[in-house]
Amino acid sequence: MLGERIGAPQIASGDLLRVAVRDQTPLGVQAKGFMDKGALVPDELVLKLIDARLDQPDAKSGYILDGFPRNVSQAEALGAMLKNRGEKISQVVAIDVPVEELVKRISGRRTCRNCNEMYHVAFDPPARPGVCNKCGGELYQREDDKEETVRNRLKVYNESTKPLLDYYGKAGILSTIEGVGRPEEILHRILDAIGHSTGARV
Ligand code: AMP
Repeated sequence: MLGERIGAPQIASGDLLRVAVRDQTPLGVQAKGFMDKGALVPDELVLKLIDARLDQPDAKSGYILDGFPRNVSQAEALGAMLKNRGEKISQVVAIDVPVEELVKRISGRRTCRNCNEMYHVAFDPPARPGVCNKCGGELYQREDDKEETVRNRLKVYNESTKPLLDYYGKAGILSTIEGVGRPEEILHRILDAIGHSTGARV
């Protein structure tokens, strides 16, 4: 929704990794075991994917990075990468959601194997169970969306990713928004946080 609204591509490290795993590229083969456990994939693999993605023509006038950076060393590498490209981060948005709500959202998530569209078994079910509304593809539960793995991902978040709040807070470019509410409400909070005013009061 955000990408459509501001006309920028969403570049999600997790999506790039899942494509590499699906296509069984050498990088994907190395990444798979880490992903299935809910651990972080080694930085050099992720950085390679992001660097190549930023070279694509649609990333020439801005983009949304999603799920990257995931730790301080990735953030430092990103800073260097952007400096080389004559670019900089305009805003970092942290979306704050209580842990139990996150577990409910992620463990109920179903993803289309074909087009990556996401659903939730209770909050946003497809019209026909197991079938994507958009393309008719098969819906599946990501291995790392099973509850036990989600809890491990949250532990990894606390250990490795949370320090980024301090890192980008000190840089003066962090906004934290409340991530509970309807998707449209949260979208408007993000638009406000990135200075993309809509005039809407939600
Ligand atoms: P996501 O789709 O962002 O939830 O990521 C799914 C999984 O991909 C994570 O649990 C990690 O195993 C891996 N992953 C995604 N982004 C990164 C990243 N920036 N650094 C390391 N591992 C990542």
